[in-house]
Amino acid sequence: MLIIGLGVWLALIVSAAMPQLAGLGQLVMPVWLHVGLGLAVAMRWGWRVWPGLLLGAALAYAHGLSLPLTDALGLSFGDTVAALAAAALMRRRGGGVLPFFRLSRVLLFLCVGALGLSMATAGWHLLWWSYRLQSGFLEGFPYFMACGMAALTGVLMATPASLYLIVAEPSTLVRPLAGRWETALMAVMVTVLAVAQFLLTDSRYGFMAALPSLFIIPLLWMAVRSRLSHAYWLSSLIALLAFAGVAMRNDGYYIDVGNSGVAAASMMLLVQSVSLLVFGALVAERRFAEDWLRRANHQLENKVAERTRQLAESEARLQLMADAAPFPMVMNRLDGGELIYANAQAESLFRHQLSGVEARRVQDFYMNPADREAVTAMLRGEGVVRDHEVRLRTRDGDGFWALISCSVIHSDGELLVISGVNDISERKRLESSLRAANQALQSHVTEIEGLQAGLREQLRRDQLTGLFNRRYLDETLPRLLAHSLALQRPVAVMMVDADHFKRINDNYGHQCGDAVLGALGAYLRDHFRSGDLVCRYGGEEFCILMPGIELEAAAAKAQQLCDAVRELPIVTMEQTLTVTLSIGLAVAPLHGEDTESLVHAADQALYAAKQSGRDRVCVALRHQRALS
Ligand code: GH3
Ligand code: MG
Ligand code: MG
Repeated sequence: MLIIGLGVWLALIVSAAMPQLAGLGQLVMPVWLHVGLGLAVAMRWGWRVWPGLLLGAALAYAHGLSLPLTDALGLSFGDTVAALAAAALMRRRGGGVLPFFRLSRVLLFLCVGALGLSMATAGWHLLWWSYRLQSGFLEGFPYFMACGMAALTGVLMATPASLYLIVAEPSTLVRPLAGRWETALMAVMVTVLAVAQFLLTDSRYGFMAALPSLFIIPLLWMAVRSRLSHAYWLSSLIALLAFAGVAMRNDGYYIDVGNSGVAAASMMLLVQSVSLLVFGALVAERRFAEDWLRRANHQLENKVAERTRQLAESEARLQLMADAAPFPMVMNRLDGGELIYANAQAESLFRHQLSGVEARRVQDFYMNPADREAVTAMLRGEGVVRDHEVRLRTRDGDGFWALISCSVIHSDGELLVISGVNDISERKRLESSLRAANQALQSHVTEIEGLQAGLREQLRRDQLTGLFNRRYLDETLPRLLAHSLALQRPVAVMMVDADHFKRINDNYGHQCGDAVLGALGAYLRDHFRSGDLVCRYGGEEFCILMPGIELEAAAAKAQQLCDAVRELPIVTMEQTLTVTLSIGLAVAPLHGEDTESLVHAADQALYAAKQSGRDRVCVALRHQRALS
């Protein structure tokens, strides 16, 4: 139904125009509108419309030129095939339904749709009439040119204008800069001028002859300010009026002789249409580009807005995190030290509101400026400072110890420092009191050790004489003996007893006896080698160990002691006394190889000395004899 309807519609339009145009008395209609309309329909609906096109063109030829049906159908076959082929070719080459928005498509339309279709249609007509009239092919060349011109004119006049009627213009181009009134005024003015030019005046000479070429100006204006479709419709209207003038008076637009008026009108239309097509494509390209840019810009703005929102959110999250951090955090510039941020904990630690009027710098919070310089130097070198102890101060100047960790970050081309501050004053105070307690403890330990050493010394010393006591002798002798015997060295034991000491006590008092014992002890200590061990064995009895000494030497030493003490004046508080000694001598391993037997041997020797008259030295066992 659509196709039949289209065909009838096409036939009616063309038929209505034909009688007048045919009135020119030309062999071929001057404007083949049906070719242009046929191309537009083929471009819009494709090959499906072929019956309508064939029928419409046949009716147009039969009615307009009063041709027999065979010729009308034969000619319309060529027109239809050419229109369908041109439309298909343009579609295939990407022309689209409205091929006027890109320069490349406009060129395709001009080459294929306008020129190619016109040549094909004219060629077919030439072939048809050559065959029908049996005339020579070459003689028909002027006829071919006339047909080609008529078809070209029909296409340029009808195709863009009708396509804009049946196909919606892209929304991008339906945004006129001019208002409705402006467009209507311009259209009316141009129409009035064209009517005056082509229908009412003799425009063959003078400035009126040049006027039609100026119509391109309002058309281009319309293409830019209004819509492309309006420009094409106006262009087609101007062309229609031009052809109407030619048809009505046959002396109208540019008429000199014959059908040159048609040629002039066709040329005007050609120039006008091609300019409009090319310029329109440039305008459309620019509008599409602008539209694309606008959309791209809009998308970009949306993206920027989204990114800004995300950044704001992320910043807010970071701010929340930093504010909620359980330790003081500070951010400052590395170079100037200006504070940029401090969380609530930091503000409370430093007792400083960052948002206050005063601009503060981190160096204001260091007790010692050298500390800040050292930290800055480390940050410049390593970019990081870990667990560094510094002395800081609050805004009020109260100092405190802090453990700081800092990192350098790059932000907007600037070096910033993020610092975590840990107040360690309490820890420092505890450390210092711990140190003091430790020192006190240390001195107590030293004192106790001294006391212990004194106690140990007291334990092995005899109080009266200051010599080693018997306990010490009992501890030492077994070790000394074992050691010396292991080295095969002799050990001499000398038992010394003061003779008749009881009498001294009885005669001069106990205190005097003590003084004598003290003097005797001092004498013994001074007259033996440091390697010898002089002990107070008990009462007025002494025991002397002499490691590494042979029997003879020991006996000589004992005798020497006995002789020396006999002559020794002992000065006491009231008088000067003398005392004699009895000495028993035993030597290991000769007189015994263990402590007990050795001491026993020395005791026996002492007993022997006492028994044999005192004031002498006796050697143990078989050597037991008085030496003097
Ligand atoms: P001898 O050894 O020659 O046989 O006669 P002695 O009088 O020295 O011996 P005795 O064992 O009878 O008496 C020892 C005396 O030494 C008895 C005691 O009064 C005195 N004596 C012992 N220890 C001390 C002391 O620490 N201080 C004083 N002043 N006298 C002491
Ligand atoms: Mg005694
Ligand atoms: Mg005695």
